Amino acid sequence: MANIGFIGLGNMGGPMADNLVKAGHDVKGFDLSADSVTRFAGAGGTAADNVLAAVSDAQVVVTMLPAGKHVREVYTGDDGLISVCRPGTLMIDSSTIDVETARDVIAMADTAGHHMLDAPVSGGTTGAAAGTLTFMCGGSDAAFTGAKPFLEIMGKNIVHAGGAGNGQAAKVCNNMLLAISMIGTCEAFLMAERLGLDAQRFFDISSTASGQCWSMTTYCPVPGPVPTSPANRDYQPGFATAMMYKDLDLAKGAAESSKTWTPMGARALELYKEFMAAGGADADFSGIIKHLAGKK
Ligand code: NAD
Repeated sequence: MANIGFIGLGNMGGPMADNLVKAGHDVKGFDLSADSVTRFAGAGGTAADNVLAAVSDAQVVVTMLPAGKHVREVYTGDDGLISVCRPGTLMIDSSTIDVETARDVIAMADTAGHHMLDAPVSGGTTGAAAGTLTFMCGGSDAAFTGAKPFLEIMGKNIVHAGGAGNGQAAKVCNNMLLAISMIGTCEAFLMAERLGLDAQRFFDISSTASGQCWSMTTYCPVPGPVPTSPANRDYQPGFATAMMYKDLDLAKGAAESSKTWTPMGARALELYKEFMAAGGADADFSGIIKHLAGKK
């Protein structure tokens, strides 16, 4: 069993850390929110008062933080992980952040003699609780091989996407495509309805024809055809629109830095921004169908 330091015990990090505890590891958790640390201690973890206390005897460190600036601060700031951890520590950052920060921080960790992966996830809070997340990993073969047994406790699909930052690259490209396909699926259902075509009938045809995609077959934005989709519970998330907006904003930055023209991704960002301004931030991202329905 390993000594693990876990930093960031929020909606995702909390249940991920719980699963490491349930698997028998000695996990010390720290979060700026005292409530999150208390909850974790109640679930069998060890409460730490600060980053140093969480990682001083750790062989493995996992971070699950809101954004790139938090990751940079926690790893590279004064008393950050890169300086306080023992050389050779395995570091796994599962936050969703920009590719550039991921690559910078991993390079600094490698220089200090650590092994570090960027390992963002998909699967949301349900997947975090069930231990069924998908991890998209970037980093060396050694870091990936070392991290895999721990990631397998928290997830179901563990994919090595290549070198440092490639996990974030996979996540940002996937989620930009998801946003575009969701808006396209919403548009198709809205137009089908206005042309007099029943939603279920359209689903039966398109879900087995060339229009088929995950946004239709798993996450259908109209109630009925896929009973488990958020549309059947008034668009309770699921995957909140604010989260999708965050990922589209990361995609915009990635498109700029990689000099890639992504007109559909850019339009999806604008539409999700409008939906948030109209009060949709906490709704599931498939709820954008209601916003689109109100336009002509
Ligand atoms: P969250 O806000 O619930 O949790 C983040 C936690 O980090 C908070 O508890 C916060 O107090 C803590 N934190 C911030 N700065 C810190 C610091 N310096 N030291 C210690 N703790 C600090 O967010 P979340 O929903 O758990 O998401 C975490 C990451 O996972 C984000 O990058 C998000 O984009 C990504 N993600 C979230 C979901 C989801 O459905 N919630 C799905 C996939 C990916």
